[in-house]
Amino acid sequence: AQNERDSLFIILNFASEFFKKQLFQSEEGKSIGLSYFKERGFNEQTIKTFELGYSLDQWDGLLKEAKSKGYSEDILEKAGLILRQENKKYDRFRGRVMFPIQNVAGKVIAFGARTLRSDKKQPKYINSPETDVYHKSNILYGIHQARQAIRNEDLCYLVEGYTDVISMHQAGVHNVVASSGTSLTKEQIQLISRYTKNITVLYDGDSAGIKASFRGIDMILENDLDVRAVVFPDGQDPDSFSRTMTSDAFQEYLKSNARDFITFKTDILTDGGKQTDPTKKVQVIRDIIESISLIPDGIKRSVYVSASANLLDVEEQVLLSELNKLIIQKQ
Ligand code: ATP
Ligand code: MN
Ligand code: MN
Ligand code: MN
Repeated sequence: AQNERDSLFIILNFASEFFKKQLFQSEEGKSIGLSYFKERGFNEQTIKTFELGYSLDQWDGLLKEAKSKGYSEDILEKAGLILRQENKKYDRFRGRVMFPIQNVAGKVIAFGARTLRSDKKQPKYINSPETDVYHKSNILYGIHQARQAIRNEDLCYLVEGYTDVISMHQAGVHNVVASSGTSLTKEQIQLISRYTKNITVLYDGDSAGIKASFRGIDMILENDLDVRAVVFPDGQDPDSFSRTMTSDAFQEYLKSNARDFITFKTDILTDGGKQTDPTKKVQVIRDIIESISLIPDGIKRSVYVSASANLLDVEEQVLLSELNKLIIQKQ
């Protein structure tokens, strides 16, 4: 009910304020959390814009504070903030830097939380569970801070992680959101399409990132949006890469390296044109035809077929007839 959703928003906002206070005012938060963010190159303005916080390394830091202010354990649990084992209740987020996840209007609906340890004994990031106000497949991290810029630029950059959004924002690129480690959904694309029909995917420069970008591209094409992609050098992500250069140079890199999806896929699948084996070439052609077949608009399909024929050096007619076979199979 509406009442219950409202109480969830209230407790989540309370938690977010508490985590911010810990980051800026507690000794532990300042010496561990704040210095971590500073070492990553986040300035104070950026930390405030994204309302970053810190959860104390205690079993009941938030629980105790919330109860003393009159909040019930029941609502804390429904908001995904506390866990229960038998009758023992304790904080879900402990000793981590906190990334509040906000809805379009800016209300906190969940948290992502990063460990500061590098021992691999615990997952690097943990997230709130699904709740009555948080459905992770419907939301994109950073949408509240990005939506106006997405509209103004008529373009949305899509990245993998929280820190990619934050570093890009700090580098002056505000039209950026993250899928936060889940594969892109139809609902997320529809959310973007309220503001623009153009998406540029900026996934990590590793094999997982490339796989994810291929899936993302197909999903975007299927939903009739236009998609481009940028590759980053080996092992870099938008966050780490942006920190190797000035903001101007980074923005210039994005502009001059955004490629249409056909050029992007061809380049990767043929290893930058080095791969000339005919068997391999057949696979590349099939792969690209598969992607084109997902586009609902027939005019766009035919434009992309011509472009592919040129790029892959095959007869347009051949591509068209293969494409039509695929489309008929789908019907
Ligand atoms: P960092 O730079 O802090 O190491 P990242 O954003 O580059 O983080 P990646 O490993 O590239 O981290 O993962 C991308 C995104 O996937 C993360 O921002 C996070 O949302 C999600 N993610 C990563 N690891 C996990 C995990 N163990 N559990 C859940 N989600 C995760
Ligand atoms: Mn990665
Ligand atoms: Mn990273
Ligand atoms: Mn990354």
